[in-house]
Amino acid sequence: MDWRFDNTYARELDGFYVPWDPAVPPAPRLVALNTELAAELGLDPGVLAGEEGVAALSGAVVPEGATPLAQAYSGHQFGQLSPMLGDGRAVLLGEIVDRHGNRRDIAFKGSGRTQFSRGGDGKAVLGPVLREYVVGEAMHALGIPTTRALAAATTGEQVLRDGGVQPGAILTRVAASHLRVGTFQMAAHHGTVEHVRRLADYAMARHYPEVAPGDYAGFLSAVIARQAELIASWMSIGFIHGVMNTDNMTISGETIDYGPCAFLDAYDEDQVFSSIDTGGRYRYGQQPPIALWNLSRFAETLLGLLAEDGDVDAAIADATERVEAFVAAYDAARAARLRAKLGLAGAVESDGVLIGDLLSMMAMNRLDFTSTFRGLARVLRGEPDDVREHVLDLAAYDAWQARWRQRLGETDRTATAAAMDAVNPVYIPRNHLVEEALAAAVDGDLAPFEQLLSVVREPFTERPGLDRYAEPAPAEFTTGYVTYCGT
Ligand code: AMP
Ligand code: MG
Repeated sequence: MDWRFDNTYARELDGFYVPWDPAVPPAPRLVALNTELAAELGLDPGVLAGEEGVAALSGAVVPEGATPLAQAYSGHQFGQLSPMLGDGRAVLLGEIVDRHGNRRDIAFKGSGRTQFSRGGDGKAVLGPVLREYVVGEAMHALGIPTTRALAAATTGEQVLRDGGVQPGAILTRVAASHLRVGTFQMAAHHGTVEHVRRLADYAMARHYPEVAPGDYAGFLSAVIARQAELIASWMSIGFIHGVMNTDNMTISGETIDYGPCAFLDAYDEDQVFSSIDTGGRYRYGQQPPIALWNLSRFAETLLGLLAEDGDVDAAIADATERVEAFVAAYDAARAARLRAKLGLAGAVESDGVLIGDLLSMMAMNRLDFTSTFRGLARVLRGEPDDVREHVLDLAAYDAWQARWRQRLGETDRTATAAAMDAVNPVYIPRNHLVEEALAAAVDGDLAPFEQLLSVVREPFTERPGLDRYAEPAPAEFTTGYVTYCGT
């Protein structure tokens, strides 16, 4: 099969990677194949599902035209700079221009040790690989920019994790690119301003063709604008990334590296699930300020380019202003999304208070974030009010609803409810469902994983027989629930 690789990163960014072959797995087996994405990439799903495909999607045979390499990058991890990280268990095979003309990276995760592995084994295991698969597909279906899984394969190896053995696995990941804030940090810390320029020119041509070549300040603002939209989209569906290190923030604006990620059940700004985030640095409500912090680190890497006329102070002042513009951009993006979630047309001064009061009520009563918005649409249709059933202070709730209805005005309620349902998912990959599906898969039963995948791929359309996928986790589950990196 001809993959039609065209590998600009390998060609143009010498010095930003080391050529590296994936390890050959002892007994590869395909576990999941994303046929829709394969077709989008112009690859034949039938061939990919066969012997040749399994070999290619497990690292057993490097497909023709691929130039496998491990990317070099740095990064702030939980606020501490690691000067050299790099792909410790990943390999970029190359790039394919898809049917829409978009250039996409094809990369492995879990394909063995590389020059950047440090103490790690370079492996991934089936549970976390399938978590990244299903959560990525859900995010895509929710309309959120994200890397996606093309395939998951087991390697036939047993890998030591958390004191036990687990099936080794490889995820084939498709991304707009794997350029990260950490890639720029690596260039700035280890290279000269010319290295940063080469990287910036590459990133701008690939992701921001609308910015004039050489306009690095414009590039900075464009990345900030995309991240503001991305974080607002996470917040509006209750997504918690879990490890927002600078090496896990893309330049393209896609969500990347689903590790200990999770979704809110009860609305709680302080919610944190990750086992490694003991300080709560990356808790739900902290995601916008962390994004701002990461973007400040990104801006610093560009200072050499921004201060080329010699006026460093002016460059710093300008970059600071651009970084701080994240706050207004994020606030506007979030407000727009929340208005849509409540069916509010246009923008009115008092919307902020109306939305804030609802969120306070949700926090106070520990209302399920996802179901509440679907429930409010049902109320508009005249169906029973199940949000109200979960609220203690009924007078406050009724008063809020009266204000909401007044703000909606004389609109057609059925149309408004339909508009709300088009942005408020009924199905998300709820943590307990994900855990259940992964546990079954590790035991050899892929049916729950496949079922969950098919449910979350159509998140806005309520279907009969899927009630348990729409329901919040039992309280016993959420109390004490933690997610692991699985690394
Ligand atoms: P991640 O948590 O996947 O974003 O990875 C952070 C850094 O640790 C990256 O440089 C990874 O390549 C590296 N890493 C994570 N897991 C492993 C592993 N099992 N073996 C080697 N390196 C790893
Ligand atoms: Mg990472």
